[in-house]
This record gives sequence, C-alpha cells and structure tokens, in this order.
Amino acid sequence: MPTTLEVLPEVEKFLQEPKSNLIGGEWVQSASGKTFQTIDPGNGEVLTEVPETGTEDIDRAVAVARELVDKGKWSSMRPAERGAILWKIADLVEANKMELAQLEVLDQGKPMFMAMAEMDLVASTFRYFAGWVDKYYGETNQTDGSMFVYSLREAVGVTAGIIPWNYPLIMLGYKVAPALAFGNTMILKPAEQTPLTALRFGELALEAGLPAGVLQIVTGAAETGKALVAHPGIDKIAFTGSTDVGRQIMKSAADTLKRVTLELGGKSPNIVFADAELKPASSFSMYGVFLNSGQTCTAATRLLVEKSIHDEFVEAVSKAADKMSLGHGLSSDTRMGPVVSQEQLDRVMDYIEVGTKEGATVVAGGERADGDLANGFFVKPTIFTGVKPEMRIAREEIFGPVLAVTPVEDVEEAIALGNSSEYGLAAAVWTKDLKKAHRVAAGLKAGTVWVNTYGLYDPAVSFGGYKQSGFGRELGKHAIEAYTQTKSVWLNLS
Ligand code: NAP
Ligand code: MG
Repeated sequence: MPTTLEVLPEVEKFLQEPKSNLIGGEWVQSASGKTFQTIDPGNGEVLTEVPETGTEDIDRAVAVARELVDKGKWSSMRPAERGAILWKIADLVEANKMELAQLEVLDQGKPMFMAMAEMDLVASTFRYFAGWVDKYYGETNQTDGSMFVYSLREAVGVTAGIIPWNYPLIMLGYKVAPALAFGNTMILKPAEQTPLTALRFGELALEAGLPAGVLQIVTGAAETGKALVAHPGIDKIAFTGSTDVGRQIMKSAADTLKRVTLELGGKSPNIVFADAELKPASSFSMYGVFLNSGQTCTAATRLLVEKSIHDEFVEAVSKAADKMSLGHGLSSDTRMGPVVSQEQLDRVMDYIEVGTKEGATVVAGGERADGDLANGFFVKPTIFTGVKPEMRIAREEIFGPVLAVTPVEDVEEAIALGNSSEYGLAAAVWTKDLKKAHRVAAGLKAGTVWVNTYGLYDPAVSFGGYKQSGFGRELGKHAIEAYTQTKSVWLNLS
C-alpha cells in the first residue's frame, strides 16, 4: 500500500499565515488589497491566497531597487561577503529541503522524489554562483602608452525575473543566483500557479543576511509581469516561459529598450537508432517526456525511431507508460503527478483530441485518470504513433504527458526531422556508433544535445535555446554576459 507523507507542521503553519509580497525587506500586502488563490493540482483544493501585485506595488519595489543600485550598496559590497550570503542561502535551502519540497509538491503537483532532487539543484546553483563573485574580470587594453584604457565589468542594475510554474524554485535559482552574484538587484515574479516556494525562499534569503531590497518577490499573474516589463526603472528582464509570451515581452521591452534574455518553449527530438542500447534508451525516452507530467521545457516530446526497431521500441515504451503510477505528489509510490491546473488539463486533452483527429494512433493513455484521482488534474501518459511531421502534435508544444512517435529511415532523415521545428531547445541521440553520434550532435540545431542520456543539468553548464526557443544563456560562465555590462575608461597619461 502506498503511504501518504505527512505534511510537516512548518508547512501547515506557512500555509495558514497570510501571504505577502517581499518589498524593501518587509512583508507587505498589495496596495489594492487584492489577492488570488493558489491550489493543489493533486486534488483541486485551495492552499492559500497570495497578493495580486499592481503597478503601485511595483513602483515601490523599483524605487527601493533603484536606490540600492544607485548607491551601489550591493554591487560594491566586498565580493567575498556577497558570496558568503549566497552560500548561506544555499545552506538554508538544504536545511529546509523537506519543507520546501513539500510546498513545491502541494503547489505544483510533482512527486516528492523529484521535488527533493530539485532542491539539491537549487542549493548547488546558489553555491556555484557564490563562487563566481570574485572570479570575473574587466580588461586592460594595449595602447601606445599615452593612454591607460581599461574596461570595468559592472552589474546591469535593477533586473526583474519572470518565471514559469513547471520548476518554480529551480527557475528562481537560475535567475536570482547569477543576478545577485554579479551585483544586481532582482524583483522576481513567480508564476501565478506556483507562488509559494518563492515566498518561503524570500524568508530564507532574509535569514541568510541578504540586505533589504536586493531580492524582492511579488506575486501576481500576467498583468504583474507586464507591469514589470513596461517599467522604465528596470534595466533588464530575465524571462523563462512560453514562446508567445516571450514575443510579447520583447515587443513591450522595446519601448524602454530593456535588455532581455528569453528561455522559451521546446519540442525536443529524441532520436533512437537501431544500434543503440535499447534498454536505457527506452527508459530515458520515458523519463525524458513524462518527467514532471511532460511539463518540462526540454521534454523529449518527439521520439524519432529508426524503422527497423520502431515496433519493438514503441511496445517497450508503451508498456512502461501503462505501468507508470500516477498519484498525488505526497504519495510514496507516485512516479507521475497531475498537470498544474484545470487550464493545462483542458489544453492537454484538446491536443489529444487534435492528434486523434489528425490521424495519429493512441497506443498508451489518451485519457484522464479517474477513480481517486478524478478531483486532480491527471492525464495518463499518452503515446501517439504514426505521427507525421506536419501534424500539430508534432509541431506545437503541448506541455503535458504526450509523446509523438515518428519512424525515421537514416541519419539524414533523423537530422532533417529533428530540425523541422521552430524550436531548438534540446535534443538527444542514442547510438553506439561514435561517428554517428557526433554527426547528429553537430547537425541538430539545439542549445543542448544529449548523447545516450537525457535531461541532465548542471549549474556549470550553459543552458538556452536556438531558434524560437529564445536567446541568451543561463548558467555557467555565460551568465556573466547576461548579468553584467562593460564600461571602457580612457585615462590620459600624456
Ligand atoms: P507563460 O504563460 O509564458 O508564463 C511565464 C511567466 O510569464 C509567468 O510568470 C506568467 O505569469 C508571466 N506572464 C504571462 N504573460 C505575461 C506578459 N504578457 N508579460 C509578462 N509576463 C507574463 O509560461 P508558463 O505557462 O508559466 O510555462 C510554460 C512555458 O514555459 C512552456 O512554454 C515552457 O516550454 C516554458 N519553459 C521554458 C524553459 C526554458 O528554460 N527554456 C523552462 C521552463 C519552462 P502568470 O503565470 O501569472 O500568468
Ligand atoms: Mg498551485
């Protein structure tokens, strides 16, 4: 019998206390007093209410952040001291791992084992960037000696992070850790479906000694995000979310010429050749697409299998999909949770209907889970075969547990089909032939390519998209470019 994890008393307490925004180091309600609900997608129950942040609140947050930036309070703190605070934040995330993981499970729906692993990545992201605070440099230029010319690498200033609901605290870490490490302030808006771990994180950041106003957290929906993007007092937007919203953000940011980095959607191809080790290939194909109920930007949603092994491979993957245990994220045997909201459930079910109408065949799932799970937003892991590249289920990001399988003839066709997408976030190839692996990795237009594995991330490895999956790179040393700017100084020596 599966057991259900008991909700920690500190989680209960957190949910019972009124929730506020973190502005200028204080927990405050929105000026309008308006709030909205956040729910548990595993059973549809309301967890709590959070502030609906309006323009007046954002004006306040920006004023605080501007003052800090203009006085250089955070950017000119001794780097080692800044690093120590980021390191302390990582320690506190670790010390409160179970509590944060439970909150993430309740708010987002994912299974507990995933949420626990995610908290480790959050902590390691803060540690990684804590190490960077004193390891990036400006330059001196070669001159004829009459001038001394050097460039300083300075923070961009007031940044805003706007993040999605699929990996709430990881996404926070990807934005907040580098922004702060390189001397910026950040106003962070979590997604409306999953605001809770960001708020708890705000408490931990203060506990770690982060000066008031360096990180501010405002909850809200699209309107709050729009107000951040339009605000003339913000210098940069770091966005992760859908390609459509990314487009809107770029347009709106043009009015104030803000810097923008965009991590957007994907429709990643996972290519399996007949000479691959099929056991790991099939289990990673499952993990790649159904992890987090398919709500992963790098989800392996297009399985391109070499014809000769197509039927056998599809059978293995479908059998495993049918066996996958769905349930509430707090239940011990849950391997896959619900999708995040009613809206997302409707969207996924629509796509399943579209796929069927387009002529693809459902070989696993294809429906909601019923019985005990009827109140949550559960969709069974779904596999379509006979998917043609022009079908919508092969082209559009569904963001749910839906896999589209297409047979391929050879390497050339695999690369061509792999690239026949407006997206280019990630891709994978499975083969024992090294030459083939390198050829395919070189041919695929994607920001990340995995060979004989899937879905690995590390704060030291850069991450980002090709094509309409966005631009700018997060993580690794590339984050320096995203969160700093250079200033050339000419000093007359003659
Ligand atoms: P979304 O609808 O684009 O929303 C992302 C964030 O933007 C949310 O905080 C959202 O607020 C806010 N927002 C919505 N409209 C806005 C606007 N006009 N101006 C400013 N902010 C706005 O994406 P989502 O549905 O939360 O997440 C799923 C998407 O994220 C997928 O497309 C997925 O591929 C992508 N994703 C990409 C990556 C990556 O690294 N490339 C990683 C994870 C997810 P509300 O939620 O409050 O509406
Ligand atoms: Mg929620």
